[in-house]
Amino acid sequence: MNKIEHIGIAVKDLEASNALFASLFGVDHYKVEEVVSEGVKTSFFKAGPNKIELLEATNPESPIAKFIEKKGEGVHHIAFAVTDIVSEIARLKSEGFIVLNETPKKGADNKLVAFLHPKSSNGVLIELCQEIDE
Ligand code: ZN
Repeated sequence: MNKIEHIGIAVKDLEASNALFASLFGVDHYKVEEVVSEGVKTSFFKAGPNKIELLEATNPESPIAKFIEKKGEGVHHIAFAVTDIVSEIARLKSEGFIVLNETPKKGADNKLVAFLHPKSSNGVLIELCQEIDE
């Protein structure tokens, strides 16, 4: 695993949170992207070398809607950059982690992603992400 790629934060109202985080970081979000398959609308901020993803549910079945219902708004996941997501999934499975996506899927911001169940990582949802070369 390489560096932390971004931290994902679940929010109820993306527009309001975009304004909030823009004043926090002193810089506006640089992109908004909807991931239809996940039922989320995301926006991205860069604060220095750090990247923050805000996630808003687009339907009540969205994992983000369920997360907020259970825990309220807040930190949702930590994403790590990996160079070979397929071998990293295999490695983590062999270490006993519960991998939610045996086959990586297309995520936001031009990434292949896979998640580890928080149950197997002390309550923290971990995202692996690999940049897609085009
Ligand atoms: Zn993410």
